[in-house]
Amino acid sequence: MKFLIVGAGFSGIVAAHRLSNAGHKCTIVDRRPHLAGNAHDSHDKAGVLTHNYGPHYFRTNSQRIVDYLSQFTDWHPVDYTIKSFTEGKHWPFPINLNTFEELIGKPATAADFERYLSENRHDIPDPKNSEEVILSQVGSRLYELFFEGYTLKQWKRHPRELDPSVCGRIPIRTNRDDRYLSESFQALPKNGYTALLENILADSPGTTLHLNTDFQEAREKFPHDHLIFTGAIDEYFGRRFGPLPYRSLRFEHESFSGRELREREPISGKPGFWQPAMQVNYPEKDVPFTRIVELKHATGQQIAATTIVREFPDDWDPSKEPYYPVPAPDAAAAYRKYATLAEAETNTTFIGRLATYRYYNMDQVTGMAIAAAENLIKRFA
Ligand code: FAD
Ligand code: UDP
Repeated sequence: MKFLIVGAGFSGIVAAHRLSNAGHKCTIVDRRPHLAGNAHDSHDKAGVLTHNYGPHYFRTNSQRIVDYLSQFTDWHPVDYTIKSFTEGKHWPFPINLNTFEELIGKPATAADFERYLSENRHDIPDPKNSEEVILSQVGSRLYELFFEGYTLKQWKRHPRELDPSVCGRIPIRTNRDDRYLSESFQALPKNGYTALLENILADSPGTTLHLNTDFQEAREKFPHDHLIFTGAIDEYFGRRFGPLPYRSLRFEHESFSGRELREREPISGKPGFWQPAMQVNYPEKDVPFTRIVELKHATGQQIAATTIVREFPDDWDPSKEPYYPVPAPDAAAAYRKYATLAEAETNTTFIGRLATYRYYNMDQVTGMAIAAAENLIKRFA
C-alpha cells in the first residue's frame, strides 16, 4: 500500500517507520524546511544547541516508548529544574517545601507545610477547572503568586475557563523534590530531537521525505491509497465550521559570549550561564513574556557562550503557528464537529497533537502513532 503522510514531526515519522518496516511505501511531506516539527532543534549562530520552537523536555512513564526510541538515540539524563521569578526574587518552583520556606521566611518541616495547606486549601472535592484544581491544593496566596497571572498571559483566558488538566499537570509537593516534572524517565536525546528523528527515518526502508511541500501540492503529486494527516484538523476541512481556538507564541533569542556572562555570575550563580536555572517563569501580569529558557543548563553542552529564549504568548491567526490547542470545554465542543467529519473519512487517519486537537507531549504522540500504524498494518494485511 502507498501512504502519503502529512507532517514530519514525531507522529508522521514514527508512523512511517512502523508502516515501512511492515512493507508499505511511505511518502512524507512537510511544508517546513526541516523535519522534527515543533521538536526541531539546531545549533544557533553562537554554536549553542537550541530548541527552535520552545523548550522540549522529554519525559515519560512508558518503558515501551523509552525502549522504542532508544533504538535510535542515546540519552542525556536530566533533572529538569526551574524557578519562578516574582515579587523581585527567584522562587523554587514547582511549589515544594523550599518554596514554602521562602514564603514564610524561615525554615519549616513537611508537617508545617501540610498544616499550612490544610488551613489554606479550598474545600473543592471535584475540581472542574484550572483555578479550582490549584485552589483545592494550595489555597489563594500560592495560586495568585504563581498560577493566575501566568495562565492569563499564556492562554488569554482565566484559569477558571480552562480544563483542570492545564494547571493540574504542574506537580505540588510537600517534600524538597524540586524537579519540574514527575515522570519516571526524564532525559534529552543525546544528539537532539532532529538527529533522533533522522535516525528513525534512516531505518524506514523506501520512505521518502519532501520538505517545503504543502499538503495541497502533495495530494495530487504523490498518488496514494491512504493518507495520514498530522496537521491541524480544522485546516484539513477548510475551517468550514470556523477556526478552532489556538494559542501561538513568539520567541526572542539572545546570545551572550563567555566574557559577557562573567557580569551575570552574581545572578546566575554559575560561571558560563545567564540565569540560575534552565527555565525561569515570570507569572507577573506586567511582564510580557511567560518564561526565559537557557537550554545549556539541561543539555550540558560544553561551550563558553549561551543563548536565552524569551517566550511571548501570542494571539493565533492563520498566518501563525498553532502551537497550543486550547484545553477548554468550548474548544472541545468545536473540535468534536471536526472529529465527526474525520470519522467519516475512511481513507484518512488523523494523528498527532494538531490533528486530534490534544495538548499531548512527545511520548504520547509517539504512542499514538505506533498504535495507529499497527491498526493500519492489520487493516491492510
Ligand atoms: P508537530 O510537531 O506539530 O508536527 C506536525 C508537522 O506537520 C509540522 O512540522 C507542520 O509543518 C506539518 N504540517 C502541518 N500542516 C501541514 C500541511 N498542510 N502541509 C504540510 N505540512 C504540514 N512535548 C514534550 O514531550 N515535552 C515538552 O517539554 C514539550 N514542550 C513543548 C513546548 C512548546 C512551546 C510546544 C508548542 C510543544 C511542546 N511539546 C512538548 C509538545 C510537542 O511539541 C508535541 O507533542 C510534538 O511535537 C507533536 O508532534 P506531532 O508530529 O504531532 O506535531
Ligand atoms: N503554569 C502556571 N505557572 C507556571 C507554570 C505553569 O500557571 O509557572 C500553568 C499555565 O497555565 C501553563 C500550564 O500550567 O500553561 C502548564 O505548564 P507547562 O509548564 O507544563 O506548559 P508548557 O511547557 O506545555 O507550555
